[in-house]
Amino acid sequence: MTYQPSLERYKTMQYRRCGNSGIKLPSISLGLWHNFGNVNDFENSRNLIRTAFDNGINHFDLANNYGPPPGSAEENFGRIIKQDFKTYRDEMIISTKAGYTMWDGPYGDWGSKKYLVSSLDQSLKRMKLDYVDIFYHHRPDPETPLEETMLALDLIVRQGKALYVGISNYNAEQTLKAVTLLKQLGTPCLIHQPKYSMFVRDSENGLLDVLEEQGVGCIPFSPLAQGLLTDKYLNGIPKDSRVVTSGQFLNESHITPEKLEIISKLNNLANQRGQKLAHMALSWLLRDSRVSSVLIGSSKSEQIIDSIKALKNTTFSDEELQIINNILNNK
Ligand code: NDP
Repeated sequence: MTYQPSLERYKTMQYRRCGNSGIKLPSISLGLWHNFGNVNDFENSRNLIRTAFDNGINHFDLANNYGPPPGSAEENFGRIIKQDFKTYRDEMIISTKAGYTMWDGPYGDWGSKKYLVSSLDQSLKRMKLDYVDIFYHHRPDPETPLEETMLALDLIVRQGKALYVGISNYNAEQTLKAVTLLKQLGTPCLIHQPKYSMFVRDSENGLLDVLEEQGVGCIPFSPLAQGLLTDKYLNGIPKDSRVVTSGQFLNESHITPEKLEIISKLNNLANQRGQKLAHMALSWLLRDSRVSSVLIGSSKSEQIIDSIKALKNTTFSDEELQIINNILNNK
């Protein structure tokens, strides 16, 4: 049946300006790292994209290596776009990345111009797109001169294969250098994608300040710490949770009694605020206006609908913030 997006899709989502750019992003974006590979149920993946779009989540984040197998998330997303979203391309922000191992030999990894240009060409073919909205360098490369990597990003924009560029997993110092180079080349850095959640707070040690000073947006990935910052692991490990269904990047060893105690205390505080822990974890990030969007993953459509409830309350009292810090620091 032909997909008809909801006419209400722009009614509840909030959109935030991404740094100093002309682009606004939905406060919540959807990532395709998990649940979109060939190992997953295609109709569920399709439903996730439909549910997101119906609720104003019009930004979809991919990478060359998402799957498994690597590349299959882009292929499946391409199928979904072709089937359901062909006439809605101009309402969507589609991102992809290159920077991790993708193919054999010296040109399938890291940050050379050779790798980035070839990889994006492959991604566009897999997704059957003419261009992506954002192309990221996925991780810093200690060996390739930063000038070459940034020149490659600039080239890709000039070739019309991406409208904007971003960087991911760069620390504050590396970010300042990259952003400065891109500015000199005339292709400003749109956005930075760091790992940032209540459990991973390195971005607070200078990175967020650099991004603010330089007018670059910020989209934290794994804002729910892959599902740990929800109530799902409080009473055991559900069969349909990432620990069981994937187990590669999140496994039982991450769910220690100490961690569970922290999660339980955070859950209690969330309930006192009238939220679930998943909502509080997202709204805690969104309380900071430097955060342009939070980049969630979802295995079920209901999770997307649920996570959007975080937008109902993104303010915290000083006391609540202090309690959260105390819980996280085990005080
Ligand atoms: P999250 O921290 O949001 O974790 C998502 C998982 O949490 C879901 O798959 C689901 O797991 C669970 N979940 C989500 N919503 C709810 C809810 N409302 N209630 C209960 N459980 C919920 O993000 P991800 O780790 O998936 O990362 C998000 C995106 O970030 C990726 O898809 C990717 O685009 C990007 N990313 C970027 C990286 C980079 O290096 N730049 C690295 C990693 C990710 P379950 O399966 O248990 O149901």
